[in-house]
Amino acid sequence: PDVRIDVVTIFPEYLAALDLSLVGKARQRGLLDLRVHDLRDWTTDRHRTVDDTPFGGGAGMVMRPDVWGRALDEVLGAGATLILPTPSGEVFTQRHADELATAEHLVFACGRYEGIDARVAEHYRATGLDVRELSIGDYVLNGGEVAALVMIEAVGRLVPGMVGNPESLVEESHGAAGLLEYPVYTKPPRWQEIDVPDLLLSGHHARIDRWRRDEALRRTAGRRPEMIAALDGTALDKHDVAL
Ligand code: SAM
Repeated sequence: PDVRIDVVTIFPEYLAALDLSLVGKARQRGLLDLRVHDLRDWTTDRHRTVDDTPFGGGAGMVMRPDVWGRALDEVLGAGATLILPTPSGEVFTQRHADELATAEHLVFACGRYEGIDARVAEHYRATGLDVRELSIGDYVLNGGEVAALVMIEAVGRLVPGMVGNPESLVEESHGAAGLLEYPVYTKPPRWQEIDVPDLLLSGHHARIDRWRRDEALRRTAGRRPEMIAALDGTALDKHDVAL
C-alpha cells in the first residue's frame, strides 16, 4: 500500500468508522494500510492501567508516559510522523492535510482524560522523529479519537486513487484559489419555489466559470473576510467582482 496509518487508543471501537466509505474502500483495495491498536495491550498490571494522578495536583488524570512509550516504540518505524491530537496544538488546516498526505507512515496517539504526559512528545522529538501536536479547532473533546478521524479523512481523500474523481479535489474550498467554494445545485431546477440560477442551465461554460468565481469571491468576503485579506496581489484580476 501507498500509505500506512496506525492509531493507538483506549477505544479501538471508536475508529470503526474507518471501515466505511472512501477510507474503508481504500483499505479494501489495498491503497491504505490502516491499523488500530488498543493502548491497554501495552499495560503490565492486572488492571491494565493507562493513567495516574497529575504531579503538582489538580483535577483529572494524566496518561502515563511509560505505557505510551512501550506502545509507540513498537508502532513507530523509522521515518514515521507522530501525530498527537491536542486542543493545545497548532490548528489543523488543509495545508497540514496536503503535507501529511505525502508522508509514508502516520501514527496517531489519541489522548484521553487530561491528556498524555508531556514527556512523550519531548522524547520522540528528541529522537529526531517528526512529531506534530495538532488541534482540530478551538474547542475541547473528550478524546483524540474524533480528531484522528477528522485528520485521517482529510488526508485520506488526497491519497491518489482514493477519491473516485480527482478533479473534484481541484476547485474545493481551502484549495489553491484560497477561496470558499461557490454554491452548487442539482435537479430539480425548481424546488420550494426556488430556481437554480438560469446561467447554470445555459451551457455557456465561460460565463458559468465567471459566475462561479464571483460567487466564490462574494461568499468568501462575506463569511471569511480574513481569507480575502490573505490573498496575494496576483490572486485577483480586473474581471473579478468588486468586493
Ligand atoms: N486538559 C487538556 C487541555 O485543556 O488541553 C484537554 C484534554 S482533552 C479532555 C482529552 C484529549 O482529547 C486530548 O488529550 C486530545 O487527545 C483530545 N482532544 C480534545 N480536544 C481536542 C481538539 N480540539 N483537537 C484535537 N484533540 C483534542
